[in-house]
Amino acid sequence: MNKVEKADHAKDFNPEAEYRKLVEKYAQNGELKKVAVVVLTEKRKTLGITDTKAEEIETEILAPVRKHLADLQSYKQYFAEEVEQKYPLDEHTLNILKDYQDMLGLRDEDVASIELEITSVKKTEYQKQLQIQKQKQEYENNLQRYEQELIKAVQAQYPLDEYVGNGLKTFQQFLKLRDEDINLIEQKILAPKQAEYEHQQQELEKLDQEQVKNSENSLLLDKVRGDDLRLDLKLDFREAIFGGEKEICISHLKSCEVCKGFGRTYTSLTYVTANRKCNFCDGKGLNPVTQKLKINIPAGIENGTRLRIAQEGDERQGGGNPGDLYIYLFVNQDKEFKRNGINILSEITIDQQQAISGCHLGVNTVDGRVELIIPPKIRTNQVMKLKNRGVPRLGNPSSRGDHLITIIVKN
Ligand SMILES: [Zn+2]
Repeated sequence: MNKVEKADHAKDFNPEAEYRKLVEKYAQNGELKKVAVVVLTEKRKTLGITDTKAEEIETEILAPVRKHLADLQSYKQYFAEEVEQKYPLDEHTLNILKDYQDMLGLRDEDVASIELEITSVKKTEYQKQLQIQKQKQEYENNLQRYEQELIKAVQAQYPLDEYVGNGLKTFQQFLKLRDEDINLIEQKILAPKQAEYEHQQQELEKLDQEQVKNSENSLLLDKVRGDDLRLDLKLDFREAIFGGEKEICISHLKSCEVCKGFGRTYTSLTYVTANRKCNFCDGKGLNPVTQKLKINIPAGIENGTRLRIAQEGDERQGGGNPGDLYIYLFVNQDKEFKRNGINILSEITIDQQQAISGCHLGVNTVDGRVELIIPPKIRTNQVMKLKNRGVPRLGNPSSRGDHLITIIVKN
């Protein structure tokens, strides 16, 4: 039995296979250490393998490993270059890298560990950047929210009163907005508003002065004046824009015709002067009189504008100048149009096809229907301007603002 086994063993003994086993045992990462080379050189002598054959065996075992390592290195290099150029990688680049991986026959797990090594730093950087960008965007959004709020406030009321001012301050704190940014926004929105306001005040003063000049009453009597009256007048949106003559009905106190405003009548008889309470005015010297009045609304007035009509207030007991009539003009909102100073704002909705290819549309303006040419590739919220279709400038009606149309693209 033993003999047979030995014989089999001898028959099986293959020096080349032995040498191969040794090379496989010593090889590491496609390389042989110096000491391994010394051992192997000795072993090939013992096994009776020629140097050529030994090298052939070594190459056969080491070459694929070396190639694999070189392929990994190559993949790593290309991957790193792409990441350096742009991170995260786009679909296109990922596809090419995937093809390259397949070409080299690299396993997914090998590639994954390379990618992880390269991208881990980039990823952190990228996420940090995203975070910063997000915060920046949020801040920008908050600034815009504040700006919208300020625009709304100013449209409703100018100058702003303390209550609204405090509200805005609280809103700023709530949104954590820096003062310098708020200053910029305020400058942008309030400066033109202030200029407009001052201009309007000047114009109104001029109108006042003209009316005073036109009145025939002397300044002397002005000191003893009757009470001023206030009348609130609602105007349609278009009336406020174009102005014009308007008839109003007011009830004011006029001096009693019977007692000339003194409340008592004096009847001179031959010997007695009868001094009686005037029956016509019940001794008040004044009677309420309802009167129609034509007033001229200047073009371009704003909500809350005050007009002064000199001497159309109440007369005074005992004579003197009547007070003035102050007409507060309130402008009704329009379904279609809004106003921002001398500009008119409206919206128009178009569909995707119109937005892509552009179109000609009839749009409403305060002057009637007008053709609006929308260029191709317009985006939603873009604003188109119809020049000189806005509100006439107060005191200079031939100069007009614009009509701004916000384009809404329907999904
Ligand atoms: Zn009277």
